[in-house]
Amino acid sequence: MVVLKFGGSSVATIEMIDSVLDIVGQRLDEAPVLVSSAMGKTTDRLVEATEAAGRGDRDEYRRVYTELREVHEDAVRRIADSSVREYAAGRLTDLFDEIQALLTGVSLIQECSPRTRAAVLSFGERLATEIVHARACDRGFDSVLLDSRDLIRTDDEFTAANVDFRETERQIKAYVIPIAGRVVVVQGFIARTAGGVTSTLGRGGSDYSASIIAAALEAEKLEIWTDVDGIMTMDPRIVPEAQTIDSMSYDEAAELAFFGARVVHPSTIQPAVDRGVPVFVRNTRNPDLAGTRISDATDIEGPRALASKSPTTVITIHSSRMLNAYGFLARIFAIFERHRLSVDVVATSEVSVSVTLDDPPDLSGLMSDLAAFGRVEREDDQALICLVGNRLWRRSETVARVFDSLRDIPIRLISLGSSDVNLTLIVPSEALQRAVRTLHNTLFVP
Ligand code: ADP
Ligand code: ASP
Ligand code: MG
Repeated sequence: MVVLKFGGSSVATIEMIDSVLDIVGQRLDEAPVLVSSAMGKTTDRLVEATEAAGRGDRDEYRRVYTELREVHEDAVRRIADSSVREYAAGRLTDLFDEIQALLTGVSLIQECSPRTRAAVLSFGERLATEIVHARACDRGFDSVLLDSRDLIRTDDEFTAANVDFRETERQIKAYVIPIAGRVVVVQGFIARTAGGVTSTLGRGGSDYSASIIAAALEAEKLEIWTDVDGIMTMDPRIVPEAQTIDSMSYDEAAELAFFGARVVHPSTIQPAVDRGVPVFVRNTRNPDLAGTRISDATDIEGPRALASKSPTTVITIHSSRMLNAYGFLARIFAIFERHRLSVDVVATSEVSVSVTLDDPPDLSGLMSDLAAFGRVEREDDQALICLVGNRLWRRSETVARVFDSLRDIPIRLISLGSSDVNLTLIVPSEALQRAVRTLHNTLFVP
């Protein structure tokens, strides 16, 4: 079996869905399982609608709702076979009625729990797969639509749920294996708790769903189809000169994803790695290209790719009590843990420690807790740049080239990854584009 995951941009319109089905049509003898994201930016729009409803802003949530309804209904109108079209239109009506009821509820009580938020967000994938499945039937494929909530079991962290892998694997096998060989269509991102309530795997989580399904089925391949030719040396939206990378190790890809390359979701990697399923990243608009293969090992040394995250905040704690004191860092990190803030980069000196936080929410509680240790400083509008590659520093020439190319950039922090696979720099946001492009073109453009 092969698991083919198509992201939002790959199913944004009925024309794109047709390109997806052209790809699937070439793969029928491999027993494809098609995992679909929500159409285009639907999940972002559902977030906006939920937030507007939570503020009691009826005009706004109704406006977003109406727009979403039009986009989806428009796609269904393009289905040729009248009985398939009418069935799909009926399903859309039912789903949109549910969304409306939920949003009305949220707007009446002006409160939205994670459980309700997950329920609303789940509709993006549910709507998209109705349309993908209908179009597949319309084109004569032997398509079956499953509900991923029957496949993936999670705990009650509704918007970033943790997977119960044993039960999930049992369910996936029970539902999918008997119908292997037909075109199996399922939603990414959504799941269900042991109590039967809808949950979601966190933003960008469709890759994770696909990886979990591929692992459970011990698929021959997991292919993540998106809108770029593969994993590239840098996000091509930021550096147009970015180049596609033929093959990458799991460690490099995970590192890149963690530091901001949203082309693959970090946790995507793990379930597939554990079962030795090869992962490919490919372009729906350019299906003749092989894309990037992510495998368990490559022997390539040196710089492979860059990633960036912006905005990032740097927090520095200055304290003379750090001198020769053991347990100091542990106490500081306990505070970050208590505030449920995850730290990206750490740099220490004898009397200070700096950490970076990714786009943090209100930090006043954290700042006052940290003040117990000494003077605390906060710098907003910073950006993180991460250079990834195996044994980056084997050749001192690389270090020299990196820092030489950045001589005009005000670097705020440097962290040389302890695993020798990354170098992380913090620069002011306004210097990000310049820094990353200079570094990229020095290292990757011949
Ligand atoms: P999808 O909708 O298919 O899930 P995403 O938007 O999540 O797609 O991911 C694809 C996008 O990731 C690309 O359009 C690109 O802008 C961005 N991206 C960031 N870093 C990289 C990288 N190193 N290589 C390729 N794409 C990257
Ligand atoms: N639709 C979800 C999101 O936008 C999941 C995904 O696309 O991966 O976060
Ligand atoms: Mg994605």
